[in-house]
Amino acid sequence: NFDFSDRVGRVEPSATLAISNLASELEAEGEDVVDLSVGAPDFPTPDNIVQAAKDAMDAGHTGYTSSNGIPDLKEAIAAKLRGNGVDAEADEVIVTPGGKQALYETFQTVIDDGDEVVLLDPAWVSYEAMVKLAGGSLNRVDLAQHDFRLEPALDELAEAVSDETKLLVVNSPSNPTGGVFSDAALEGVRDLAVEHDIAVISDEIYERITYDGFEHTSLGSLDGMEDRTITINGFSKAFSMTGWRLGYLHAPSDLISQAGKLHSHSVSCAVNFVQHAGVEALSERTDDTVEEMRQAFEGRRDMLVDLLAEHDVDVAVPKGAFYMMLPVDDDDQAWCEGAIQDAKVATVPGSAFNAPGYARISYAASEERLREAVERLAEHDYI
Ligand code: PLP
Repeated sequence: NFDFSDRVGRVEPSATLAISNLASELEAEGEDVVDLSVGAPDFPTPDNIVQAAKDAMDAGHTGYTSSNGIPDLKEAIAAKLRGNGVDAEADEVIVTPGGKQALYETFQTVIDDGDEVVLLDPAWVSYEAMVKLAGGSLNRVDLAQHDFRLEPALDELAEAVSDETKLLVVNSPSNPTGGVFSDAALEGVRDLAVEHDIAVISDEIYERITYDGFEHTSLGSLDGMEDRTITINGFSKAFSMTGWRLGYLHAPSDLISQAGKLHSHSVSCAVNFVQHAGVEALSERTDDTVEEMRQAFEGRRDMLVDLLAEHDVDVAVPKGAFYMMLPVDDDDQAWCEGAIQDAKVATVPGSAFNAPGYARISYAASEERLREAVERLAEHDYI
C-alpha cells in the first residue's frame, strides 16, 4: 500500500526485458527458443580484459575509486575520444556503471519539467523512459518512412526543432535499426543544433560495429558541436562486456560538474577492478578481437539479409550494430507474441521503439540459430 511517485508511474518496464523474460520462461518449461530479442553480443569477454580484472582484484583494487573514475581510465577514454576528433580531456569524463547510467545522469542533469527533447524514431526504448523520468516532453521525428535514414528526413527534423528544443538525441549506429547516419546527416544535425542552441546527446555505443567499410563519425568532432555535445559510450557492445557494467559520458566541464553531483550521490563510482579492465579494453591489445567480432556480425547480417530475401522479405540493410527491423503486421505486438508462442522465436515489437509494424531482430546469435529462426518463422507463416 505504498503511495508511489508520479515519476515512476510515468514509465513502463523495458519491453526488451519483458520479451526475454518470456523467452526464459518458455525455456524453463523445456521449449527450445531462438532468442533474438537481447541486445548482447554472444561472445565471451576477450581474455586480456578478463585477466586485467583478475590482476586488479589480486592487486587489491577493490575499494571505492574517485567518483568520476580512476585517472588511468579517464585518460584512456579522453585519448580514445581525441582519436575520434573530439577535443577531450580526462577531467571532462565521468565513468559510469554502463552507458545507461551515463544517459540517465545526462537527462537528469539537463532536463527540467516540460523541457522539450527530440528523439529520432525508431529510438532505443530507454530514451523515452529517461526523458519522462526527468519530466521532459517528447517531440519525435519518424525515420521509418525514409528507410531509417536521417539525411532524407532533415527537412522534417528542421520543422520539428525550434528555440524551445532543449536536447536532441542521436544514436548512430542505431539500436533498433542498425542505421548509420551519413556525415551529411550529422552536419545537418549540427547546423540545426547551432541555429537553435540545442544540446545533443550522441550515443555512440555501437561505434565499433560498422559494416561495408563504413567509418563512424563522432558528432562531437564537428565544428560547432564541441560545446554542445554529450558523448555517451560504453564497453558492453564493442568488448562483449554487458554484465561488467562500464560506460562513460564526455561533455564540457560545466556539465561534468553538475552531473558529477548526481553521480556521487547515486552510484558513488563504477566498480574499481572493472575500471582497470576498461583500461585494458581500450588498449590496442584488444583491437584484433574486436575486429573478429565485428566481422562475425557482418557475416551474420549478410546471411540473414540473404535468407530473408529468399522468403521475399526485404529489409533496410543495417550498416552497423547488430539489429535489423523486420517488416511485420500492423499489430507488431501480436506478431511478436505469436512468433514466440508458435515458432519459438523471440523478437521485440517495433512499437517499443515507436515503430509499429516492425519487429526488431538482434543477430547477436550464431549463424546456425539465425538459420533456424528464419526456417521456423517461415514454417509457421510469420514471414
Ligand atoms: N545505448 C543504446 C543505444 C543501447 O542499445 C544500450 C544497450 O542496449 C545502451 C545505450 C546501454 O548499454 P550499457 O548500459 O550496457 O552500456
